[in-house]
Amino acid sequence: MAAPSSSIALRTPWEAFERRTLDWFRDLVRLDTSNPPGNERLVADYLAARLEAAGIDAACVEAAPGRTNLIARLRGHRPELPPLMLASHTDVVPAEPQRWTRAPFGAEIADGCVWGRGAIDMKAKCAMDLALLIALRRAGLVGDRDVIVAATADEESGSQFGAQFLVERHPELVRAGFVLNEVGGFTMYLGGRRFYPIQIAEKGFVTVRMTVAAAPGHGSIPRPTTAITRMAELITRIAHAQMRVQVTPPLRRTFAALGLTRDTATALFRPMLSNTVTPTIVSAGYKDNVIPGEASVILDGRTLPGEDVASFLAELRSIVGQEPTLEVLKSAPASESSIDTPLYRLIAARIEAADPGAAAVPWMLPGATDSKFYTRLGAACYGFSPVKLGPMTPFGSLYHGNDERLPIDGFYWGLKLYTEVVLSFLGINFDSVFE
Ligand SMILES: [Zn+2]
Repeated sequence: MAAPSSSIALRTPWEAFERRTLDWFRDLVRLDTSNPPGNERLVADYLAARLEAAGIDAACVEAAPGRTNLIARLRGHRPELPPLMLASHTDVVPAEPQRWTRAPFGAEIADGCVWGRGAIDMKAKCAMDLALLIALRRAGLVGDRDVIVAATADEESGSQFGAQFLVERHPELVRAGFVLNEVGGFTMYLGGRRFYPIQIAEKGFVTVRMTVAAAPGHGSIPRPTTAITRMAELITRIAHAQMRVQVTPPLRRTFAALGLTRDTATALFRPMLSNTVTPTIVSAGYKDNVIPGEASVILDGRTLPGEDVASFLAELRSIVGQEPTLEVLKSAPASESSIDTPLYRLIAARIEAADPGAAAVPWMLPGATDSKFYTRLGAACYGFSPVKLGPMTPFGSLYHGNDERLPIDGFYWGLKLYTEVVLSFLGINFDSVFE
């Protein structure tokens, strides 16, 4: 008669590692780090306790109370080699429980998936990083180079209290030659073939407040031109404008890998072919019978590699004309990492070995991640948070979506691949850790 404990005893070291990592992943999902307000200290404390139990000191640094970033490091035996950093952010976007099938912070297992906010974005990778560092420490193995684990706050609101703060105020903690971060390594089905994007570039952003003014007046005396009607016209113009199409070098690499051109690219690639502008917050008026003298809109602008604030504003001006005032609220340039590195080649080769017939593809993200900041310290940053997905998984819409969930078998597949890549890059034999 098999008691439950005997089946646990029969697990291989690798199976025990899988189960532990899954348990930690679910624990992390249960910690509500919705941003705002963030409260990432919950996760930092959890990680610090696990690391401490394994004899690893972690640095916890905060740009504001509760907005804790955790950084831990295992030293390699060749200090001249640039470190490898395993990066994750620990905040999540808020969830509306009434729109979910299961509790967003319950980490329930159902239909073969772990359900919860952060299951994809990105507590699974955070758990993988934690488990790997601890496995290395427990095995008493030292890699060629330092390996750093960084678990940061505030990515979902622009990283001001997280990666940006660390890069600007504590660069010694997060300076690395290579970074493995989010958005990449998941199965993508295109034209009947399987691909795995690896993020090598991301667009920049320019956030602009656009304001128009016109004479105020009494709501009882209508007229065709007011600040509100002018703003409505300008927003409509933006929505219908086609911004200048450019195939930038990172996109050219993607197209080459997929056998696509600018003309055959699907709608998926539209945001990568030009700068974009999206109106996100409209403000005007303060009383129901007053025509306001001013209306404004926040524009979420995204810029291609090679563009800057001035070139973006010039393009926006060509759409909206000289009338509105444009005020830049925040900006950051696009970032890009070389694919001509041993780590990129290793990732691509291991992906293709782990899923025969599939191809790894360099990828540009239309959005922004912490990689934008880490590249400023000279790191080559790759989006590699691997998970194997079936063709019917609506992966893209689960990012920040309702019913966010991650298939457990795909998670285990990704954990194995991720572990192989990290250990191989550190010069550590897989079997020596999991024998
Ligand atoms: Zn994320």
